[in-house]
Amino acid sequence: MRVLIVEDNETFAEILSQKLGESGFDSDTATTARQAHEAIRAVEYAAIILDLGLPDSDGLFLLRQLREERHATPVLITTARNSLEDRVKGLRSGADDYLAKPFSIDELIARLRALLRRPGILLDDVLKAGNVSLAIDSRQVSVAGRILTIRLRETILLEILMRHHGTVVPRRYFEAQLFGIEGEQETNTVDVYIHRLRRQLQDADADVKIHTIRGVGYMLASMTTGVSEDAARERSL
Ligand code: CA
Repeated sequence: MRVLIVEDNETFAEILSQKLGESGFDSDTATTARQAHEAIRAVEYAAIILDLGLPDSDGLFLLRQLREERHATPVLITTARNSLEDRVKGLRSGADDYLAKPFSIDELIARLRALLRRPGILLDDVLKAGNVSLAIDSRQVSVAGRILTIRLRETILLEILMRHHGTVVPRRYFEAQLFGIEGEQETNTVDVYIHRLRRQLQDADADVKIHTIRGVGYMLASMTTGVSEDAARERSL
């Protein structure tokens, strides 16, 4: 799950990014409102952590702009402004939660998890597709109750496939979630990961399978479902 940190204090952003990483969240950092806006256009983030005091604009202005553009991504405001009036203004502008600086990063991560557990966003504790389960916090994957050893990066792809079970996920979506705004380093990393993941699921007798929809992306579907590529394309994300 990838989040965007909008924070002009680069040292703090770096610490935050590292802590988020330890808690299973990938992240990108934007130090200006403009950079943030560009990143949000390029990558679908699970949440945005937004500082209000930015060098080029007020974070609240960016937030209103995003909501006007119909971006529904949950936003957690972090700011030194802490009057009741500021808080209300933030929530009225479309923020989902508000955290006053200074705060502990553990508190921020707890709030972030709470945000992602809200209905419609669903940071479920365990995702299931057929006999495959993925525990979100521990990243543990099991098939019919037996635990598989799967690399962390591959569990990110599996999570995306499971969240879109039965729908074709475009290749560029996986790339954006894996590499964020930095882009892909190698051209075929996603394919290599998917290939390995598919074989591991197969070897473990999973009753779901990763289908390749040529020219589009990948889809997780049950073994018994015949997948016609044309029908699958129509169900594309
Ligand atoms: Ca600031």
